[in-house]
Amino acid sequence: MELIKIILSVIFCILFSCKVNDSTLINIESDNAKYVLPYPVGESYYVLQAFNGPYTHHDEFKYAVDFTMPVGTVITSAREGEVVFVRDSFSDNENGFDKTNLVVILHTDSTFGRYVHITENGALVSSGMKVNVDDTIALSGSSGSPSYPHLHFDVTKTCYKQDCNTIPFYFKDIEDKNGIIKSGKYYTRRKATNK
Ligand SMILES: [Zn+2]
Repeated sequence: MELIKIILSVIFCILFSCKVNDSTLINIESDNAKYVLPYPVGESYYVLQAFNGPYTHHDEFKYAVDFTMPVGTVITSAREGEVVFVRDSFSDNENGFDKTNLVVILHTDSTFGRYVHITENGALVSSGMKVNVDDTIALSGSSGSPSYPHLHFDVTKTCYKQDCNTIPFYFKDIEDKNGIIKSGKYYTRRKATNK
């Protein structure tokens, strides 16, 4: 049965030049599905923009999610890994990617999770630290994007600084069985039910 699904997906791709985020192709058991919402169980936040979001999620930031949350909200790790970059010296009023505070976590498949716009002195981890899913890693803010406080979360491959393209990722703890998060909805962090 699985084999038939894969073959059909491949045929679909050839015929219709499918996009990687096409819902017909997502297998939530795949490596791309190893994420949980990046805040504590029971918390609920509004997604202002998700993949291809109308405001700023284009080009290198195409695959990203913005969770609207007040400055100082606890951010937890969406996936286990090693902290490889931390910056939290900018104030919440500064603007631009080069004035954005962030924590970057390297995963075992050479992808990087980026937790962006954290508040000044809001990093609660340091480079070299190993983190598990759900570990507290930072406090949210609006550094680099003073228009509204939020957490921008995305995933990149092989590099994590400016000009690194984001790649699709999926959440295993949301109602959508394919793990696709959407703009304009609240998402409550539930305990993950698989893996
Ligand atoms: Zn964003």
